[in-house]
Amino acid sequence: MQKLLLQWYDTEKRDLPWRRTDDPYAIWLSEIMLQQTRVETVIAYWTRFLVCFPTVDALANADEQAVLKAWEGLGYYSRARNMKRCAEVIVAQHGGVFPRDIAALAKLPGIGPYTAGAIASIAYGVQTPAVDGNVERVVSRLSGIREDVGIPSVKRQLLRDAAALVPADRPGDFNQAMMELGARICQPVPHCEGCPVQSTCDAYAVGDADVLPIRQKKTPPKEQRRGIALIFCAGHVLLYQRRERLLQGLWCFPGFDGILEGMQVAAQLRTLGIPARYVACVGEAKHVFTHLIWDMTLLHFDAQHLDCPEGWLWADGEMLKRLPLPTAMKVAKAYAAQKLSMP
Ligand code: SF4
Repeated sequence: MQKLLLQWYDTEKRDLPWRRTDDPYAIWLSEIMLQQTRVETVIAYWTRFLVCFPTVDALANADEQAVLKAWEGLGYYSRARNMKRCAEVIVAQHGGVFPRDIAALAKLPGIGPYTAGAIASIAYGVQTPAVDGNVERVVSRLSGIREDVGIPSVKRQLLRDAAALVPADRPGDFNQAMMELGARICQPVPHCEGCPVQSTCDAYAVGDADVLPIRQKKTPPKEQRRGIALIFCAGHVLLYQRRERLLQGLWCFPGFDGILEGMQVAAQLRTLGIPARYVACVGEAKHVFTHLIWDMTLLHFDAQHLDCPEGWLWADGEMLKRLPLPTAMKVAKAYAAQKLSMP
């Protein structure tokens, strides 16, 4: 099976920039970025991020806002904050070098068993598996695991099966080949007809690949309606820096859960010490997070003066461009940028 898969990988693999390096820092960066984002999107971000922060030292010493700015648009911003913390720990405790040891890697902020396995095998040639969602699907089919992979004992069996497959020779390439197979052939709807390891696959032999792996249904994301206040005053718009876990450290326009009426939002703003006159509803926007959907109504306000509470900021057009704002604010930001550019 290993030979068949590696032969296929050698001829069919996509030429991705992080496959041309053995720098653990660059490999780690690609793995973190790829966790929730498509390969095509990651290529440009990965390249740009390495220009801004070429080494683990550079990232450790960078300003967090600059890191968030370089991450802007990729989403799941805790990844960027954890990367910075991880770089600081590597510099402080490991002399600026990624450890080879799986257990030491897995202790670092933002690095779970999958990423630890990927770094150790790809950068250092350690014989260890790297099991993400794609690989989990492939292994469950190859081994014919027909129980819910969310059950801890079943998951442990799957991890043992995954570990048993990894060869001593070229473990990093093998792990990448498993990921590539999951991404391109052994997809949720499997394309067994073009699969290089078909002859070794239990699910193919039994004919139930399309129902594996068995996973309990996830609860759908909760919908939250929010009024978003775009408050303008003398060529500035009001922003606040989020302290909540979701989007922490990023700049947003103030949002109010369940309050969509301009006059009600104005009343809330007054209690925060921001007197503002409601002008009009100027649009709608939607953003889907993993567990949550923001269904946003955009409301335009005019304020009387440039005072604001601590942690808030009046931004002019330039600052609005420079500060890190999440993709959830994209429509609101475009409206604000357009208003600020008007004479
Ligand atoms: Fe996946 Fe089908 Fe290949 Fe088995 S034969 S590994 S189910 S694509």
